Amino acid sequence: MAPTSAPTAVLSFEEARHVVEEHAARLRPNGKELVELLESAGQVLAEPIFADRNFPPFPRATRDGYAVRAADLSKLPTTLKLVGEIKAGSADTTLNLEAGQAAAIMTGAAAPAGADAVVMVEYTSRAGDRVEITRGVTTGENIVPAGSEAKRGDRLLSPGMRLDHAAIGLAASAGRTRLLVYSRPRVAVLATGDEIVDIDVPVARHQIRNSNSYSLAAQVQAAGGDTVLLPVAPDEPERLRELIVEGFDADMLLITGGVSMGKYDLVEQVLSQLNAEFFFTGAQIQPGRPVVFGRVPWNADGEPSATGGFKYFFGLPGNPVSTMVTYELFVRPVQEALTGMMPQKLVWLYARLKSEIKTKLGLKRFLPAVLSGEFEQAQVEVVRWQGSGDIAATARANCYVVIPADRGLIAAGDWVPILRR
Ligand code: AMP
Ligand code: MG
Repeated sequence: MAPTSAPTAVLSFEEARHVVEEHAARLRPNGKELVELLESAGQVLAEPIFADRNFPPFPRATRDGYAVRAADLSKLPTTLKLVGEIKAGSADTTLNLEAGQAAAIMTGAAAPAGADAVVMVEYTSRAGDRVEITRGVTTGENIVPAGSEAKRGDRLLSPGMRLDHAAIGLAASAGRTRLLVYSRPRVAVLATGDEIVDIDVPVARHQIRNSNSYSLAAQVQAAGGDTVLLPVAPDEPERLRELIVEGFDADMLLITGGVSMGKYDLVEQVLSQLNAEFFFTGAQIQPGRPVVFGRVPWNADGEPSATGGFKYFFGLPGNPVSTMVTYELFVRPVQEALTGMMPQKLVWLYARLKSEIKTKLGLKRFLPAVLSGEFEQAQVEVVRWQGSGDIAATARANCYVVIPADRGLIAAGDWVPILRR
């Protein structure tokens, strides 16, 4: 087979990210399944969830105290006649408050008919069947009206949202024991390199254990996908091609290593032979500059396709930190689209820099860093590292400081953007 060289297109970070987002926007998940409510945590909702009743279902008292008619408290102090006690869960709805009357009420209980406010117990003193009130209330105070949070039939949750604890709590409130979620995408992971050996075999001095497949699998799973781990591919085109073809059985293929400019960096060449279309073959970032994104014409049943279907792939640089960072920056939105998630823009958070940073100009940098401090005093400090192969330093970090391509020096105390991980 004649080697084919891939076209090269090195984009700025932002351009590359936008290219990825545009393609992600066209991708859909494979299917849907019904799962138990608790199993749905972290998955993506595939149906709208509607309110089966008003939220709250009755005018809800938000304080312990006395349900009153606000107009009765125009002169203070005033004494009202106690006509009942309503606790949360009380099913009695016969009470109807008239002028001059009050009812003891507990947080979470239904305000009785006729009452339009609740006076906090702190502003009252009770003597037998009378209660003296020393502070006024406005109409509606300390009562949440029935249906004011959501009306019966309102849409509470929309398809495409990842189910976090608040969404699960809301679905529970609407009486849902099971939810329809999108099926998890299958993401194939292929490590390449003659020096790379798997973790369950003895390793010689000149060899490197395959860590990328495992860090990637962890990222894939955390983002709601299932990993298909392929055996390590050698730097040899025939076997590499076989394994790449196997990888396209999955919904997406991630390849690590073999995308730099070295003589044995064969990934793009093999992909070209499979008629790959390359959207970029580099981004002006560090770590991760040689990152490759593209797709091959491929059928759902695992065959090269002349008509229609595509499978997306990423070629991620093999340095462990490059692999991790390029997954976060570029792979994640594509995988999220395959999980059915609504597109998300990437946003940085900000923290104050603890010690000055000096870097070279020209590339946008993502430096492993430790976010520390407390409450409003978020501080971030870049860890000392030996570059993008330094997995030990990166494992001690908990975020990346994002440095623009045109900043060579950032002073201690400056606000800097960070990428959390
Ligand atoms: P490459 O991108 O193939 O030029 O590899 C760059 C560096 O990353 C080399 O030092 C490789 O040994 C290392 N590397 C490549 N693949 C892996 C892997 N799967 N696990 C750990 N290190 C790797
Ligand atoms: Mg290599």
